[in-house]
Amino acid sequence: MEKKTKAIGLFSGGLDSIVSARLVMEQGIDVELVHFTTVFFNGAVDSKGMPLTVIDLTGEFFDVLKSPVYGYGTAINPCIDCKIFMLRKAGEYMRKKKASFVFTGEVLGQRPFSQRREAMKIIERDSGLNGYLLRPLSAKLFPPTIAEEKGLIDRNKLMSMSGRSRKPQMALAKRFGVENYPASAGGCVLAEKEFEKRLGDLMKYKPGFDAGDIELLKHGRHFRMSPEVKLVVGRNNGENYKIVSLKKGTDLMLHAQEPLGPVSMLRGKADEAVFDEAVSIVARYALGKDGAGQARIKCFGGDVEKYVTAMPCKESLAISRRI
Ligand code: SF4
Repeated sequence: MEKKTKAIGLFSGGLDSIVSARLVMEQGIDVELVHFTTVFFNGAVDSKGMPLTVIDLTGEFFDVLKSPVYGYGTAINPCIDCKIFMLRKAGEYMRKKKASFVFTGEVLGQRPFSQRREAMKIIERDSGLNGYLLRPLSAKLFPPTIAEEKGLIDRNKLMSMSGRSRKPQMALAKRFGVENYPASAGGCVLAEKEFEKRLGDLMKYKPGFDAGDIELLKHGRHFRMSPEVKLVVGRNNGENYKIVSLKKGTDLMLHAQEPLGPVSMLRGKADEAVFDEAVSIVARYALGKDGAGQARIKCFGGDVEKYVTAMPCKESLAISRRI
């Protein structure tokens, strides 16, 4: 029996990924999808029944994030370097699985930064996939890949989509009977402005950060109290629980009891002055913006368990410390 051609699809979970995989499968090719996650982009994805492998690359991705060769996008998103990295990993996976090529759901000109023709060429070259990277939705707008030249896949059945409109992809989804798909892939916090500030602060004051530090950036209000110390104050019950779950050994938790207020975390070794400021900020959020009086705060963590009372800080202090 003739051996089937095998291809690896870099899968984001969005509509483009789904229909590009279906286009390749339609030609009788054995498709395996691979979805790379990191702590920055890790939503669940639905491969619509197609074989999918999920691989977490958080640790290796930190190096890409810290010094991207091609810089950042509108926030702290190193999109070109990120795509090069993901494709390099997909290439390794392709070789491991003895597949013939890698494909993606990229569409020429769909994104201003990383899907310009020039950028897409650079991404292909630097990922080491020259000739082995197929973009089924825009294939006819690029030179033929090795798989097309060898006749492993029929170029005539591939697409020539470009630009931001998603209508052609939606028409393809209809043709394939694919329903209930996300319009685009799940969010990446690196493209968010608020996250950019928080991550910038972390990279400056704790360059050896870990995944737990990053996860914490997604929750609560953050305050830079000193170069070594930061305070995180929950904004709602969900965040309170999340902040508690991210506590590490030396973190001190500050929980306003009277009145009942947010759960907060003090990370880093705080001297008395920093501690006093921190509890005054916690009191400010327990009592409200114009609140008066004092808050009673439970402090616990490690071998510490004590109660303190604190007056709310001035609004200007909270603002000046806010990241
Ligand atoms: S938005 Fe995030 S996941 Fe997407 S390419 Fe850019 S850095 Fe990578």
